[in-house]
Amino acid sequence: MERLTDDVYRLRSTRGSYAYVVEGPESVLVDTSLPGRAQAILDELGALGGSIRHIVVTHYDVDHIGNVVPLAEALGAMVWLPADDVPYIVGAKPRPGVKRIIAAVSRPAIPVHFQTVASGGRVGPLEAMASPGHTPGHLAFRTEYGLFAGDALTTRNGRVTALPALLAWDRQVEGQSRRQLLQGFDGWIFPAHGEPLRWTRED
Ligand SMILES: [Zn+2]
Repeated sequence: MERLTDDVYRLRSTRGSYAYVVEGPESVLVDTSLPGRAQAILDELGALGGSIRHIVVTHYDVDHIGNVVPLAEALGAMVWLPADDVPYIVGAKPRPGVKRIIAAVSRPAIPVHFQTVASGGRVGPLEAMASPGHTPGHLAFRTEYGLFAGDALTTRNGRVTALPALLAWDRQVEGQSRRQLLQGFDGWIFPAHGEPLRWTRED
């Protein structure tokens, strides 16, 4: 694990679609990376795994829900899914666009036991923030100084940018969400794709 701040760790075994741990009285795992990495994640978590009470998921993409089921079982953690993405995660609705094909091919295990979280909801030290656009129900999560952005944005060469348009559910809504997330924010951005970035308030 890479310790990024006092209480935030990034899991090296999730390279390609990063998952993070926020350590505290109720530690939280943010996202679960690509299917098939559960054991590598557990190995990397080591003793810290014992403190994880919650697993939060930012959105329905396979590279974020990939190990929810095996990790929740192994860690004995509660799973929190973004309320408006739940129909797609449980298969009640097909994922829009290319995501339908990706999900059909990789078929991650579908969680049965979970709670839903919506904008403004709290999970341990995190507050959920609506950030639709990449997917209809995408949530980012914030602490006082950290923004776990999921795929609402990415970073490249020290700048914030969007993920490829092909992957967006609604590009325009995505842009609005990105601006809203950053408005007045001062702290660390932790994206799933790209490197963490220290963000200084623009206003
Ligand atoms: Zn992703």
